Amino acid sequence: MESYTLLKPVLRKHRRIVITTHHKPDGDAMGSSLALYHYLLKKGHTVHVITPSDYPYFLHWLPGNAEVLVYPGNEQQAEKLIAEAELIFCLDFNNLKRINELGKHVRNAEAPRVLIDHHLDPENFDQYRLWNAQACATAELVYEFITGLGDGELIDKAISTCIYTGIMTDTGSFRFPSTTASVHRIIARLIDAGAENSRIHELIYDTSSETRLRFLGYCLSEKLEVLHEYRTGFIAISRQELERFQVSTGDTEGIVNYALSIYNIKFAALIIDRSDVVKLSFRSKGEFPANEIAKRYFEGGGHRNAAGGQSKDPLEKVVTKFKQVLEEYKELLNQ
Ligand code: 5GP
Ligand code: MN
Repeated sequence: MESYTLLKPVLRKHRRIVITTHHKPDGDAMGSSLALYHYLLKKGHTVHVITPSDYPYFLHWLPGNAEVLVYPGNEQQAEKLIAEAELIFCLDFNNLKRINELGKHVRNAEAPRVLIDHHLDPENFDQYRLWNAQACATAELVYEFITGLGDGELIDKAISTCIYTGIMTDTGSFRFPSTTASVHRIIARLIDAGAENSRIHELIYDTSSETRLRFLGYCLSEKLEVLHEYRTGFIAISRQELERFQVSTGDTEGIVNYALSIYNIKFAALIIDRSDVVKLSFRSKGEFPANEIAKRYFEGGGHRNAAGGQSKDPLEKVVTKFKQVLEEYKELLNQ
């Protein structure tokens, strides 16, 4: 596939553009998609953001949120937009499996696909690519995309707010090793361009519902299992528990990090029995490859320190398998 810079002449004409991102979009998925949305709108294109599922309430304040089309419930409209698009941007994922049903339509579309992403091992479904696994967030790459096309001066309050949100959420608020000096320089420019850093932080992290906090308390006091012999902490949640606490999209975000925050713990997992599949969320410290476990055993993938996967097995069986995997990695976990 070709470099994204070759899109410059393509984008000289006003185009019908669709932007899509991964299942259960997170701050980077929505931040990068909406940043690109605002930029392309400013350039005169007709743009639609389509998500393959709903996304957490704490992202609903993002500028442009009201214009986002959620595929379930808007299937016909979304499929028409994809079929008629002249360009499809795929952000923050690199395998069409990650966008569920939408994947089929994106694959069959006539429009060239542009991949902007920072995950390992991209599948080959794109014609143009801006990919860097070292990037701290897809939002950082959207920043590079806009500036690389010579449009840095178009980055306004809406665009900078969206990019800031993506970088902040994917770097764990600027604490992961991916947060380089260059990332901080980008952040400074985003603040200059209008991103209100303190307000964004509050809108993302300090808007929990009371139920979410009580659910978190329950997870930590009743459900957390610490396996010192494997330097692992994990929490497994059943469907009944999700119902009991009326857990909604976004409520489980970040819970896995508490298990990882324990002294001497190297690997953490949150295992949730969702209605269709059991979803696993992994986090690790240092060199321990969470993504390898996700890829090898749980049909998933991700980054070394943050990965995820799924299983069609019942919850108990998934937990048993998870423990067997830990046994296999015992030596590495204790290095
Ligand atoms: P989270 O635990 O926040 O859901 O996901 C953390 C990271 O793991 C994501 O940024 C993504 O890279 C990866 N990930 C999560 N679930 C899956 C999955 O089902 N498949 C793949 N390939 N990656 C996943
Ligand atoms: Mn990301």
